[in-house]
Amino acid sequence: MDSISYERAADANGAVRAAQQPGSMYIGGGTNLLDLMKGGVTRPVRLIDITHISGLDSVATLPDGGLRIGALVRNSDAANHALVRERYPLLSQAFLAGASAQLRNMATVGGNLMQRTRCSYFYDTAFAQCNKRQPGSGCAALEGINRTHAILGASPQCIAVNPSDMNVALAALDAVVRVRGPSGERAVPIGEFHRLPGDRPDLDTTLQLGELITAIDLPPPLFSDHAHYLKVRDRASYAFALVSVAAALQMNGNTVTNARIALGGVAHKPWRANAAEQMLTGHPLDDATLRAAAAAAVSDARAQRDNAFKIELAQRAIVRAVNQAAGRSGGVV
Ligand code: SF4
Repeated sequence: MDSISYERAADANGAVRAAQQPGSMYIGGGTNLLDLMKGGVTRPVRLIDITHISGLDSVATLPDGGLRIGALVRNSDAANHALVRERYPLLSQAFLAGASAQLRNMATVGGNLMQRTRCSYFYDTAFAQCNKRQPGSGCAALEGINRTHAILGASPQCIAVNPSDMNVALAALDAVVRVRGPSGERAVPIGEFHRLPGDRPDLDTTLQLGELITAIDLPPPLFSDHAHYLKVRDRASYAFALVSVAAALQMNGNTVTNARIALGGVAHKPWRANAAEQMLTGHPLDDATLRAAAAAAVSDARAQRDNAFKIELAQRAIVRAVNQAAGRSGGVV
């Protein structure tokens, strides 16, 4: 049995200091970390409990009209907060699409940013090959069952996907992650927070040693009138996305003046569909334009043996999500 020391941090700076010791990990809601520890996938030597740090569990408006969601706000509280529901319905929908009610009640938004892939070979230590769990060991999913794996941005070292719904909405909204480290605070755009696997699939994020997530900042709301989060999964609840789409639009009549599309379930990080956004922006929204934009979103997709269906599914999901966001009918998934 591994021995683990436990420390309860009184404040953020104390937590950061404690976390400089190698093998330290922060624990908040623990909904992913405890599973990883029980399975022997993650073996911290020191747990730093951050749940008693004051000031990290609130939601507050920012001077620019944006919103700051503290890292310790529970997913269910964030989803149902009046300002999130009213100003960022895309994010509220994404929260409510994730996990189960019990897990949402426990999981924090900071932990949601940090949750790890659900690749079954990563979780099952009986499989020796997993570069994410054991760097240099190989990737069992390449020749194994890879129906749920990546079609975009993968590498020969890892084809896992980010499992979060919240992260997809945050990508579409251009959120910023605030972190505190030994040298002070810094702000990390969400697009730079999660990594593609490259040759270091053991690293999910760009966080440095001991850095603590303190909050997520949302820019002023632009998309409260036209937003939709669509999650396609094998069963209606408590399942991870095969493909998800966060679609957010600004519109002038039927013309799209600003488009944001992010995909989940397709890559190691939330995937912004920049080409699709550009094809929609400045144009009337019609079926042909939308289908062309959806095709552009997956033009670089590469399927594994079992997941070619995701390439078509992603396009259909984009069409449906954008139509829903725009208040149009149409799109079959
Ligand atoms: Fe491990 Fe990534 Fe391969 Fe899954 S896809 S077995 S997480 S290296």
